[in-house]
This record gives sequence, structure tokens and C-alpha cells, in this order.
Amino acid sequence: MSLAEYLSKSLNTIKRANWYRQEKTITGLSGAVIELDGQKLVNFASNDYLGLSADERLINSAIEAIQKYGTGSTGSRLLSGHRKLHEDLEKAIASWKHTEKALVFSSGYSANIGTISALVNQKDLILGDEYNHSSLKNGAKLSQSQVIEYSHHNCQDLQAKLIKNRYLYRHCLILTDSVFSMDGDLCPLPELQAIATKYNCWLLIDEAHATGVMGKTGAGCLEHFDIKGENIIQIGTLSKAIGSLGGYVAGSELLIDFLRNRCPTWIYTTALSPADTGAALKSIEIIQSEPKKRWQLWQNIALLKENLNFVNMDFLPSESAILCLKSKTAKETLNLSVKLRENGFFAPAIRPPTVPTSRIRFSVMATHKPEHFTQLNKAIAEFRM
Ligand SMILES: *Cc1c(COP(=O)(O)O)cnc(C)c1O
Repeated sequence: MSLAEYLSKSLNTIKRANWYRQEKTITGLSGAVIELDGQKLVNFASNDYLGLSADERLINSAIEAIQKYGTGSTGSRLLSGHRKLHEDLEKAIASWKHTEKALVFSSGYSANIGTISALVNQKDLILGDEYNHSSLKNGAKLSQSQVIEYSHHNCQDLQAKLIKNRYLYRHCLILTDSVFSMDGDLCPLPELQAIATKYNCWLLIDEAHATGVMGKTGAGCLEHFDIKGENIIQIGTLSKAIGSLGGYVAGSELLIDFLRNRCPTWIYTTALSPADTGAALKSIEIIQSEPKKRWQLWQNIALLKENLNFVNMDFLPSESAILCLKSKTAKETLNLSVKLRENGFFAPAIRPPTVPTSRIRFSVMATHKPEHFTQLNKAIAEFRM
């Protein structure tokens, strides 16, 4: 088969299954209201939970960094790419997360696949929640460890699988999202930490949707649950609530030193750009000094729940800024998403195979206005009649 034949055959299969997807063009600044393909929409599809990506101060900080250091960082961190700005950002992350050190990556995805595959190999065991993000799953694959998934949120299943398999392997790494990205629920962190300690495992927590959102200072779910531990590795992204681009690992000095010498997705790639680094640094400063942004976000989360409660549809369990309305069929979900779009709301339909059950996924932002929620309530109520 020629390459072209193979590609078009695969694409046709995707199209027949209704899984074909395309990007949509947003014009202008991102925010709670956007212009998408020429239509003005209330945006419930953004990861920019605090509305920081369009904040003047982040924009100016990025411009200053470019003026001072140029557009590219020109090399890998260990060769010619390292700037003091990277060090400042890593110090700010470590201090916020209460760890000895932190290390920034080009993306959260590369932080996950690089860290997991540096930490464990064929001799080791990985146990991961079945709903984990793609980057955790692919990191596990790349590591060539034995990978076993446990059912979502199910510590009994995890424990049973540890009892059966743990003794056969050298090290064991437990992988979990802290806020699950397609559901919005939290991992049972205190129980996971207890199990990790009992069975001598390391615990890697992906705080992508928790950073800036969860916890007293927005540091994430570890702060939310007040959990610390030497066997914990925290990973996250600079691309969601932080409003920039990049990823990070936070942990002990030993862990970071190890990664600097062993992690291929950090060693063999160009350092984070000055603009992204500068914006992220300013953002972390703002998140810590302006808790009001987080309070507004939580107020809006409560408003969304209140306004959707009246429409007589079920939510998936959520304790974060991600809220999903369940529907019975993929078709109903798609219809509702289209209807919402016609009424000026952008909230994506998420369907199998991405998730096991169809849903409309709403991400709340601190910058949504009360009327956005009442208007949404009206649009859904009409659809239900
Ligand atoms: C978005 C996301 C990532 C990837 O982060 P990027 O910085 O966008 O590469 C990793 N894990 C989870 C759970 C995510 O939601």
C-alpha cells in the first residue's frame, strides 16, 4: 500500500465513525467571550481558568523578556539555552509548590512522558487510573515498564492489583491526574498516598487542571488535601490557569538533579522561550498576590451549578472548574452542543472514544459574568422542552 493510500483509508475510517475532527479559528484575544469563525460566543471551552492569558501584565512581561533575550532561547538548557529567567521561574514554582526544586519543560506533555520514562523501565511496574491523560499513558508506554490500569477512582482495585503484582517488580510508580480533565472529579489523593506508602510505590500527580484553581493559594490538589511526601512527584502545565505555555516538574533537589541528567525531553530540546517564561513568571506572581481571581472563579463555578440545576439534567461528579452535563446518547450531546452554539455558547460535546459516556463539558473562568450563566440556563431549558 502506498503512503497516500494508507492515509486516505485511515481518514475514511475516522470519518465513517464520526470521529473526524478539525480545528476552529478564534480571532482576537482569548477570554470569557470570544469570536469563533466570525461568531461571538460565551466561551466555556477554555483552560484559561483565571483569564490570565489576555492579562496586560503577562503580555508586557512577555514583551520585556523578548526585548531582553530575543524570541528564541537558541539552545538546550545544558548548552546555550539557559537564562536567569528560567531559574527565576523554577524558583517561583518550587516556592509555590513547597518543594525544594522545580524544572520547566516545553510543555506539560513532554514533562510527563520524559519524567515517567526517565524514572522507570522494564524492571518496574506502573499502575495508572484508567481515565488518566494521554501524556501519562504514553509516558508509561515509552518507559517499557509493565503497565496496569486500575478502574477510575477505585482504590480497592488499585490495592488488589498491587497485592497481585507488586512483588514481581523492582520499583512501582502510581500515575494519576489530580483533577481529571474530561470529568472534573478529583483523585482520592489521601488514600493514594497511604497506598503508595504501604506498598512502597512512588506517586506521580498530574496537576494540569488543578494548578491555579485548587488549594488555599492555588498551588493545586496537594495543597487542597494538605498532603506532602518524599515519594511524590508533582507535574503540571504552564498552559492552563497560568495562561502561558510550558510544563514543570516539582519535587526534591535529588529528583530535579536526576531529571537534569536523565530526562531526554528536557535535555535534548530547546529551552522554553523567553516570552513564555516571562509570562509564566508574572502569572505565578499574580495568582499568589491576587486570591480574588480564584474566589471569583469559585463563585462562578457555584453559579454554573446553580443555573444548571434547574434544567433537570445530571452532572458528572465534579469538584473543580470542569463541569460535565451527562446525556444518554452521543446524538443528544451533539444536538445540545449545536443548539448551544446557535444560542451563542461554546461548550464542546465530548463523546466516545475520548470518554466512555457522552457529555457536554463546561470549563468555568473567573472572568465569566453572572448573566452568562442565566443566559445559558435559558438556552438549555429551551432545548429540554
Ligand atoms: C493539558 C494536560 C496536559 C498537557 O499539558 P500541555 O502543557 O498542554 O502539554 C497534561 N496532563 C493533563 C491532565 C492535561 O490536562
